[in-house]
Amino acid sequence: MRSTAHPVPLVTIAALAVALVCQAGCAIGSPPTAPDPAADPVASAESCLARAVFAEPEDSAYCLPFPEGITTKVTQAYCSPTGLSHEGRFAYDFECEPGDVILAAQDGVVFTIGETWPDNDPVSGHENRVLIRQDDGTMAFYAHFQQWSVTVDAGDTVSAGQLLGLCGTSGTPSHAHLHFEVFEGAAYQWDEGVPVNFRNAQGRLDFRGGLGVDETYLVGPCE
Ligand SMILES: [Zn+2]
Repeated sequence: MRSTAHPVPLVTIAALAVALVCQAGCAIGSPPTAPDPAADPVASAESCLARAVFAEPEDSAYCLPFPEGITTKVTQAYCSPTGLSHEGRFAYDFECEPGDVILAAQDGVVFTIGETWPDNDPVSGHENRVLIRQDDGTMAFYAHFQQWSVTVDAGDTVSAGQLLGLCGTSGTPSHAHLHFEVFEGAAYQWDEGVPVNFRNAQGRLDFRGGLGVDETYLVGPCE
């Protein structure tokens, strides 16, 4: 819809907008200083599971990245079977509706953002994103934001519970969701993923203490 009615002017406007935003320092593609988790290799499901050791949820530094009182379903959890996008990764996909608010799960400083990709853009790598260097030194990766919805900029200090942007469909071939993943270091490496659970996730955890695939969780208070 966005380009068929008036292809030339809209494409021109979009290209200008991208150029202007990139001059301001946004992350399009894979700039050398920003990790690109979507593009890097992953561990096998087996080696991932060997590292899937979760702390007690009540001791977790994380809150679910949604407002208190809503429910969210985990449509893909960590260390997925071979062939799925979370194979070898400590990531979760949380179902949400386009426009739902997404919050920071832990305190930190915004490392980079990208928000120029269009909605309903099913190309891997076209995820609108926020990466946050967290206070414990790890990096959190939030992906698939609605176009132009990201409310933070690189260098901003954020607190758990602070608005980051809106749920969307950029870079995903399936449904609207939030991809959330934590890893060590500045650059994404498959063997540096961090097993994460959430102290305010009210629902059934799996036997390791992580969130379970197809399980639904009520967001409790982030205290
Ligand atoms: Zn995902």
